[in-house]
Amino acid sequence: MPSIRRYLYRKFSQKWHKFYTPSATLPAHTVDCPECGLRTEIPKLRQGQEASCPRCHHHLVRIEPEPYPVPLACAISALILMTLVYTLPFITVRMTGMFTRLTLPEMVYALLADDWGFLGLVMFALTFGAPVLFLLLCIYVYYGLLTNRTLPYFLTSTRLLTRLGEWIMVDVFFISMLVAYIKIKTVAMLTFGAAFWLMPFLALLLLRTAISVPSHWMYYQIHKHNGDRLFQAAPDTVCCTRCLYFRPRSEQNCGVCDSELFDRRPHSLNIAFNLLLAAMILYIPANLLPIMISENPMESEISTIMSGIIYMWNNGDKLIAAIIFSASVAVPTLKIISMLILLYSARFRLLLPINILSHQYRITEAIGRWSMIDIFVIIILMTTFHTPIARVTPGPAAIYFCIVVILTMLSAHFFDVRLLWDKHQQYKKAA
Ligand SMILES: [Zn+2]
Ligand SMILES: [Zn+2]
Repeated sequence: MPSIRRYLYRKFSQKWHKFYTPSATLPAHTVDCPECGLRTEIPKLRQGQEASCPRCHHHLVRIEPEPYPVPLACAISALILMTLVYTLPFITVRMTGMFTRLTLPEMVYALLADDWGFLGLVMFALTFGAPVLFLLLCIYVYYGLLTNRTLPYFLTSTRLLTRLGEWIMVDVFFISMLVAYIKIKTVAMLTFGAAFWLMPFLALLLLRTAISVPSHWMYYQIHKHNGDRLFQAAPDTVCCTRCLYFRPRSEQNCGVCDSELFDRRPHSLNIAFNLLLAAMILYIPANLLPIMISENPMESEISTIMSGIIYMWNNGDKLIAAIIFSASVAVPTLKIISMLILLYSARFRLLLPINILSHQYRITEAIGRWSMIDIFVIIILMTTFHTPIARVTPGPAAIYFCIVVILTMLSAHFFDVRLLWDKHQQYKKAA
């Protein structure tokens, strides 16, 4: 018996060993840090190792400890979980004789059928479209890598896979549901279905899958398989900010990952400032106009962002008032102020020490998506109160607010943070 087991183990491990142990390493090479521009020599990396920038501590390169089985296992289990989350009942609402049981697709459908197609599409894309496509692409690409085959549209799929990660907002939607719950329970009985309880696990699995597909390593595996040589830092080459491989300066788009190729993003400060200006202007109607109109036979209540928060604060829901306040007032305002400081520092003079500014940029970029809480809460309230007796409809401010969130996210995206470090270097030379 033990000998059979040993035989099987040897057979199995030989087969798998061939796949991932030798091919998973990255040779020693040079990269330019995409966050501070410092050129760094990276030693040979093995499975489970990673390299960060010595100057700004940005994570440069990472190899998953089990580079092939982990992403595949995560993606397949996330896909199974997703099927459950999208077919089982999500919430049940009971209100004076009415009884509604809703699944997530029914919520999207209610929005599409009710002239709020834009919000329906936003919810569909961020909580279903992006994650499903991401998981399918992950399985497809890793199947190709594991079997050493160049599948049709292999590079395009990899490019899409590495970019979809930031558009998955299942976690933000889950937190929004908790916020909406506290609002709903004052007027109706709400119970959660199985889909709701499975959602945090899905969010965690999606997060884990996104971490386990490091783009720099994936591109190396694909190109190595095609016999291409990557890595050369030669004169007249530029390091791509997305895939971190050096490409000839003459290329307009990176030959590896197809993103725009530049030394410093052209017109970065102008574009970022103009997007921010547009966001600041639209933030005024987003606050002054009604964001939500709730109607029931007794009364109709029109609320703006601030009046909604004040109402909740005075009626005992202090926690929820605080959450909505941070998501819809504090985060956007702080984000706009923070971007103004960064833009001023990059153009004129550093207002704060460079290390603080560099952290500030990272935080600004990371918190942007959480502003969507407010939009998701309105979407949930709309779909739960969708009866002839009581209904909630979004006011015009909801659209303005949605655009403000997107514009500030874009402004942070177009800001080339290396310009801050360039300014810092100028100081050091002058001193
Ligand atoms: Zn750096
Ligand atoms: Zn690239």
